[in-house]
Amino acid sequence: MKNALFQSDIKSLKLLNRGKVRDIYEVDKDHLLIVTTDRLSAFDVVLPTPIPGKGAVLTAVANFWFGRLQHIIPNQLTGIDPASVVAESEREQVIDRAIVVKKLKPLPIEAIVRGYLVGSGWKEYKKEGSVCGIALPAGLCEADRLPEPLFTPSTKAEMGAHDENISYEKAEELLGKELAAKVRDVCIALYKEAAAFALDKGIIIADTKFEFGQDDEGKLYLIDEALTPDSSRFWPADQYQPGSNPPSFDKQYVRDWLEASGWNKKAPGPELPADVVAKTTEKYRLALRYLTQSHIEKLVSGYVRFRKNTYEKNQALFERLTRQGQSPKTIVVGCCDSRVDPAIVTDCDPGDLFIIRNVANLVPPFEKSGNFHGTSAALEFGVCHLEVENIIVLGHAQCGGIQALLNQATETTQQDGFISGWMNVASHARNRVLSRMPEKPMEEQARACEHEAILVSLDNLLTFPWILERVASKKLALHGWYFDMDRGELLRYNPASNRFEAFLVQ
Ligand SMILES: [Zn+2]
Repeated sequence: MKNALFQSDIKSLKLLNRGKVRDIYEVDKDHLLIVTTDRLSAFDVVLPTPIPGKGAVLTAVANFWFGRLQHIIPNQLTGIDPASVVAESEREQVIDRAIVVKKLKPLPIEAIVRGYLVGSGWKEYKKEGSVCGIALPAGLCEADRLPEPLFTPSTKAEMGAHDENISYEKAEELLGKELAAKVRDVCIALYKEAAAFALDKGIIIADTKFEFGQDDEGKLYLIDEALTPDSSRFWPADQYQPGSNPPSFDKQYVRDWLEASGWNKKAPGPELPADVVAKTTEKYRLALRYLTQSHIEKLVSGYVRFRKNTYEKNQALFERLTRQGQSPKTIVVGCCDSRVDPAIVTDCDPGDLFIIRNVANLVPPFEKSGNFHGTSAALEFGVCHLEVENIIVLGHAQCGGIQALLNQATETTQQDGFISGWMNVASHARNRVLSRMPEKPMEEQARACEHEAILVSLDNLLTFPWILERVASKKLALHGWYFDMDRGELLRYNPASNRFEAFLVQ
């Protein structure tokens, strides 16, 4: 790891400002160099201990968002390589942590967007029922998601002072009506898009702060740092629970340590111990990795979190589930398009169900020849060895497998092996529907075919001798269920009426 950079020292350029975290230099009359150091500020005090790599992480995260959001608003980036504007001996200080930006006139406000009820917003809500004077519905908990993201501007304080929230009307006074409205709309659009993207990556962006600048023509740009852990509250989505303040990716770890240390929150701040520095470094890296990682990396890091947060803390639960998993009482033959999860639909414990999936929940007929088939093998194991008491064939609305089946122009297909076998099984369902309702709209045919596929499977189940025998002796019951996703309704097949009927809901 590279050494931490507490303060940059670039003599070839004129230093304009040292902020809490950023050192700003003038490149020429149109450009600035912004160096993001490894300084960490907490409670508005810059701490004496830098966090190695933090500047590089913040730069990477901000650049990532600038690129991702530039269709909403242009940004300050120029694409100029920072190494090209400093002396050779100074390059080490700018690699990965600096950007060359357009020199713009910053707006005199900080544009804060809040998507969740937390921090000072929560404190105000508890007392006044509002956030920055904006009234909110009663009954919200700490960390609840707000009905709509709120734009809550504040003034820009000088270093060492606290920013002060201002009303939207005050922002209009400072910016003018038109510009204030534009800033507000851009902020909400930026937040919404970023929050949705991050959530998909496992991060909740609870709130964030944007800054804007204008060029000589008055055109608006996104400046400063966009959506970094320093300018936003990032929460791991899997640990989010309304009613309590979730653990944060960002400085919360340091803040907690500082609170516990008894420091009076006035400069100078205390040195941080090595383990706090290491932990904080890791948190910053984690935020970057979450945002930019691929799906498979997400799975692996999800597993690592699962092990640390769930498995190691809750081994008893897993032992229980493992035992339950050995003795399910029910097999569910579901569709391999897994939008309908049987365990979720029936709200049962993991392990209660032995789930077998096949295209459109189809069960092939028993084959004496003993041709190996995954569904048959799983059924045999469940019925003969685990001795389940029920088999549910669970069909569902909007089934992609059924759509594919109906779209086949002819019954004969050139495909070999499993698919042709499946088409063969499925063609019974398809033929029954097409002969019964040749003229009906596709949607109705699909629904009928989804029902028929369940009946075909129920018929085929009875071709297995060991299923037939157990059904006859009442050790095993067969059920046909259909989940209508549009209505959230579970139907069951009633052989007496030959119809799918709703379960009675108490
Ligand atoms: Zn399906």
